[in-house]
Amino acid sequence: MSDYFQTDSRKLLGRLREVMAEHALGQARLDRITQLIADSMRTEVCSVYLFRDAETLELCATEGLKAEAVHQTRMRLGEGLVGRVARTGQQINTADAPKEAGFRYMPETGEEIYSSFGGVPIQRLGETLGVLVVQSKTARKYSDDEIYALEVVAMVLAEMTELGAFIGDGAALTARHTKPVMFRGASGQEGSAEGHVWLHEPRVVITNPIADDPVRENERLHEAVDQLRVGVDAMLQGASDGDAEQLEVLEAYRMFANSKGWMRRMEEDIGRGLSAESAVEKEQNTARARMATVADQYLRERLHDLDDLSNRLLRILTGQGSQTGAELPSDPILVARNIGPAELLDYGRSLRGIVLEQGSVGSHAAIVARALAIPLVIHASNITTEALNGDHIMVDGDQGIAHLRPEDSIVSAFRDKIAMQAQAQERYASIRETPSITACGTHLSLQMNAGLMADLPSLESSGADGVGLFRTELQFLIRNQMPKRSELSALYSHVLDNAKGKRVVFRTLDIGSDKVLSYMKPNDEPNPALGWRAIRVGLDKPGVMRMQLQALLRAAKGRPLTVMFPFVAQYEEYRAACAEMDKALERERILGHPVPETLEIGAMLETPSLAFAPRAFFEEVQFLSIGGNDLKQFFFAADRENERVRRRYDTLNISFLTFLRQIVERCEETNTPLSFCGEDAGRPVEAVCLAAMGLRTLSMRPASIGPVKSLLMRVDLGVVRQVIDAAAARGDQSARHAVMEYLRTTPAAETQS
Ligand code: PEP
Ligand code: MG
Repeated sequence: MSDYFQTDSRKLLGRLREVMAEHALGQARLDRITQLIADSMRTEVCSVYLFRDAETLELCATEGLKAEAVHQTRMRLGEGLVGRVARTGQQINTADAPKEAGFRYMPETGEEIYSSFGGVPIQRLGETLGVLVVQSKTARKYSDDEIYALEVVAMVLAEMTELGAFIGDGAALTARHTKPVMFRGASGQEGSAEGHVWLHEPRVVITNPIADDPVRENERLHEAVDQLRVGVDAMLQGASDGDAEQLEVLEAYRMFANSKGWMRRMEEDIGRGLSAESAVEKEQNTARARMATVADQYLRERLHDLDDLSNRLLRILTGQGSQTGAELPSDPILVARNIGPAELLDYGRSLRGIVLEQGSVGSHAAIVARALAIPLVIHASNITTEALNGDHIMVDGDQGIAHLRPEDSIVSAFRDKIAMQAQAQERYASIRETPSITACGTHLSLQMNAGLMADLPSLESSGADGVGLFRTELQFLIRNQMPKRSELSALYSHVLDNAKGKRVVFRTLDIGSDKVLSYMKPNDEPNPALGWRAIRVGLDKPGVMRMQLQALLRAAKGRPLTVMFPFVAQYEEYRAACAEMDKALERERILGHPVPETLEIGAMLETPSLAFAPRAFFEEVQFLSIGGNDLKQFFFAADRENERVRRRYDTLNISFLTFLRQIVERCEETNTPLSFCGEDAGRPVEAVCLAAMGLRTLSMRPASIGPVKSLLMRVDLGVVRQVIDAAAARGDQSARHAVMEYLRTTPAAETQS
């Protein structure tokens, strides 16, 4: 890079800054800028194209092309060279534009006389806002330096666009982040909510993209990077040795923070007139653009690390923490890339809804959102780039959709839906105390699933008969270190106090697979769902299990206690776990502690193998609970976390229902109490079919109890059973269609699923 050029580019940026400071309307500013660039680069044409909508680019200012084409000439994304730059995010530099693939000239602009074409994307945080183009008559390729300078200018233009510098009279120059956008993700927790955006990590706003003192900017950059390195080293020291994944991320941070190439590129950008902040962001943009094209998982993660590190550096440079002074709206909808369970619990019930760019149905955040009954949408790509604090937003957790800055028609349709849901809730509340007895007179016990203290109030408000599944691992998952026995004991005791004599089934620690404790050494297993998890871990490393059993026995303080072992695949595992319980009991007796008045011990039936266990097992086990989430994934060999296959097989598939019926019959033969506690128990149509197959106890999310009871009260299980049997006899793959048909034609039957 020549010194001459560096000075030139700095001069250009300096002049751009003057334009920014002038009191001019948006269009006038943009016109001045294109003039300046054309002048400074000694080229006849300079034009700025900005997105008018997601698919259309519009010529917004030009020096050199016909003035009447401004705001008239439009092209679709991918159309012509400009459209190609916008679509690919890659520059085009050619001496002979008409020969370039996809070239298409716009007659109204008079551009046919120009041979050379240089176009770069105008990007901010990986999002393309438009295209900056230079053209000239002489057939010449622009030098690398010139293209580089164009990129720098484009970056400044992007910052200015973000700051609203061009808003004003021009048709395409409306403020950004003002249009309605719909995000189609996936459902993490059902329910609908309306509110205003609260960004978990508000983005950094750069108000000084250009700087005229490169020496000072370089100093600022170096100071900030030094501070960043110290911070990363401190994080590394504080990280636990056992957590290989965390260490890998921090090592990557350190590698980037010490990367000479990264520093050199930022110094060069500063040399060209960018402020330290803009130089960091320019690198971040490049990383984001690469992230969008790289398929390799490892590389993507590292680019992600660089992105995070850039954000940290930007926060140091601008002094903008996550505290922006903004106040949490009264109806906050949390918008974030991702969030941990502990942070989510800090927000607690104040949130109306949550929208995440990442996450998964089984993630800890989703578990917490479910416990708090907050609608959650996951996989809403790019929402953190588009949403601003305070934006109006509607969250449809049932469909996995978020409407940002929705139009009036959406608002009214959505409000109707919320009102209908509220009406239904009122109806459910009115039957809270009514026992769930079907039209044919069968009594079912509806219980709730829980795991957090936040769940406890639901025991009363939902009308649940008890807690059919208390997932004890949630208390382990939301902490940064292993909880102590005394802590757990106090917690379980609190649960029993709140249950006021209702039965609570404590499931012992079910970790592994998708439930990974940050403070335990992770296992590198090719198939974690089939791997070392739940009772397998408990029996191989009994320390934690013993501690938990003791905590449970002490929490009971002589009251009745119910304990359930997860993921039992064979009789022997159940016996080994019971032997641990016997030892724990004996120890308590020796210590003179009170032991529970009654102690029930059961197992979860989550692997097909247990359904075929010897009769002696069914005789010995005090109760069984079908963990339908796991059982179904193993029955169909379809990962419950994998979006591609998760919904592929219907729970009402005749094979699965037949299998469930066999389990029911085996339990009937031995008088073994049986319940079902997977997610399907909370889906009304599924619940009716489970009841028709003979299940009499269903445990579900508290919010599902009303809808399930309401439907159960209207059906005749004998008829549903006949409908299912007829579907089986016909050879239907699933009973759903026939059952839905029956429900539709049954007077006043509700058919929500
Ligand atoms: C299940 O597998 O159905 C179950 C209730 O356990 P979890 O979802 O916690 O694995
Ligand atoms: Mg399970």
